[in-house]
Amino acid sequence: MEVFKSESIITFFDRFKTDMDCLEYLSEKKWSLGFSCAKCKHNKCTIRKKNLARDCNKCHHIESPTAGTLFHKVKFGLRKSFGIVFEMSATTKSISANQMSKRYEIRYITAWLFMQKVRDAMKSSESQPMKGEVIVDEFVFGGKEDLKQGRSSDSRKKKIVAAVEKDIQGIKRVYFKVIKDYSCESLREIFDTHISKDANINTDQWTGYKPLQKEYKITQTKSDKGNTFFEMNTIVHQVKAWLRSTFSNLDKHHIQAYLNEFSYRINRSIHKQTIFDNLISRMILAKPLTYKDIKISN
Ligand SMILES: [Zn+2]
Repeated sequence: MEVFKSESIITFFDRFKTDMDCLEYLSEKKWSLGFSCAKCKHNKCTIRKKNLARDCNKCHHIESPTAGTLFHKVKFGLRKSFGIVFEMSATTKSISANQMSKRYEIRYITAWLFMQKVRDAMKSSESQPMKGEVIVDEFVFGGKEDLKQGRSSDSRKKKIVAAVEKDIQGIKRVYFKVIKDYSCESLREIFDTHISKDANINTDQWTGYKPLQKEYKITQTKSDKGNTFFEMNTIVHQVKAWLRSTFSNLDKHHIQAYLNEFSYRINRSIHKQTIFDNLISRMILAKPLTYKDIKISN
């Protein structure tokens, strides 16, 4: 199968002209390592021409290309759903569910739900901890003073801790975690999930980071707006601007999902040509989600 490589929406819709083009892409990707029956593990099947479903030659269990993926039961057609996946990955900023619903002529809630599924596929596998130079800092979002950086005890604001991995070009990767408070216990979540014990970490002088020095190489320096935290300040500024401009009615229960989306694009910005293909693979591997799951889990 030829992997789709492009950032152009024209090239994209030339390649995926029909729902069938998308179904073929999905089925070739899903069974790229060969067929194995979900029921009996038999490895020979007959492919149904109409919908590319695999019919197991032994037990006759039938599996569609969308079964067990995040495309399962998508009612508005694969071509539209592929289009949304493309726009959420290959473009720089993605767009709101409201704009997406108009663009693809689907209901707002349908667009929003599907976009939450895509965000679920975008979340980190947590298998590649940050190494080298890392900056960790907290910020708040929402409420009146959302331009302010640093800790706030205002309960209406979302507290977020961010980790930025630097390289010679500037920002290599970034992760965010919504936290309930600034305690050491809450702050350590981002360390344990995203940062290697070998990384050289810079934080400000907040006492919440002190106990973590036993396990991590943390240097605490006075927070300044310019030098040490430059990359962090840049990212915080960008993510806040994006959240404010894209989500007019930002539902604070889902902010982690939006932050995951932002990280996913930043962290793959050097692989923009294949980012759509990567996201399709993730959509196939992820467990199907229902509307109820999404409401509860975020
Ligand atoms: Zn079987």
